[in-house]
Amino acid sequence: MDLGIKGRRALVTASSKGLGRGSALALAEAGVDLVLNARGAEALEATAAEIRAATGVEVTAVAGDITTAGGRAAVLEAALGQGREIDILVTNAGGPPPGLWSDWDREDFVRALDANMLTPIALMQACLPGMMARGWGRVVNITSQSVKAPIAQLGLSNAARAGLTGFVAGTARQVAGQGVTINNLLPGIHDTDRGTSLDKGAAAREGMTEAAVRARREATIPAGRYGTAAEFGAACAFLCSAHAGFIVGQNWLLDGGAMNSTL
Ligand code: NAP
Repeated sequence: MDLGIKGRRALVTASSKGLGRGSALALAEAGVDLVLNARGAEALEATAAEIRAATGVEVTAVAGDITTAGGRAAVLEAALGQGREIDILVTNAGGPPPGLWSDWDREDFVRALDANMLTPIALMQACLPGMMARGWGRVVNITSQSVKAPIAQLGLSNAARAGLTGFVAGTARQVAGQGVTINNLLPGIHDTDRGTSLDKGAAAREGMTEAAVRARREATIPAGRYGTAAEFGAACAFLCSAHAGFIVGQNWLLDGGAMNSTL
C-alpha cells in the first residue's frame, strides 16, 4: 500500500533502537525524511546510516536526552529551525524504572512525569502550530499497555502515561479540524532491549533462566510470542499515513491479545 506520505518530514524521538527505530524505519520506507534522536551518539549514528543506506531518505541525527530542556531545544532546532517543517511527530522516550508504590518520592514522580508526559506534550506544543497552519499533520505517541491494564511494578509509568493520554484525548479533538491527527500506540511486550531487560530483572530476582522467564511471559500472550519492532513500526507508519486522517484521539493496543477484554 502506498502510504501517501513520500516527501513528508518526521521527527521521531528516542529512535536509535527498539520501537522508535522500528517506527523511523517504516516511515523512511514510505519515503519520509527523518530527524532522529537518542542519548547515545554511536548507536544513533549507526541507525541513521543504516536507514539512509536502506531507503535513501534524508536523515538528521541529534544526540541528546529528550527529557531535558537542553536536549529538546537541540532536537527542535534541527527539526524546526531556519524555517524547516515537521509534518509527522512520533514521541518516545525510555520508560521509568520498576519498583514498589511505597518507595517512590516526589522527585521520582516528577522525573517520570517529565519523561513520559511533559516531554511529549512539549514536543506537540512545538510542532502542532506549523502542522495546523499547513492543514496537515500526524502525531503518534508511543505509550504503553499499562494505560489500559496497569502493571503494578510500573506505577510511575502507569501514572505518567495516563496523564499524557488524558491530554491527548482533549487536544486531538481541538486540532482535528485543521487536518492534524493525534493518536497513541500502546505496546504490549515487544522484543526490544527494554522488553528483554525486564526478563533479565525477573530472572535475577527469581533465580530462573532468561529463557524460562521469556517462555512464561510468552504463555500470557495469545499470539504466543513477543511483538517485533518492525510490526510496531508498520502500525505507526499507517497511523501517520494519508489514509489515517479520520482516526482521531485513539489508543491502539499492540499486545498480541494479552489484555483480555471485549472492547
Ligand atoms: P529500547 O529498546 O530500550 O529503546 C529505547 C530507545 O530510546 C533507544 O534508542 C534509547 O537510546 C532511546 N532513549 C531512551 N531514553 C531516552 C531519552 N531520555 N532521550 C532520548 N532517547 C532516549 O525501548 P523500547 O522497547 O523501544 O521502548 C520504547 C518505549 O515503549 C519505552 O517508553 C517503553 O517503556 C515503552 N514500552 C515498551 C514495551 C516493550 O515491551 N518493549 C512495552 C510497553 C511499553 P539511548 O539509550 O541511547 O538514549
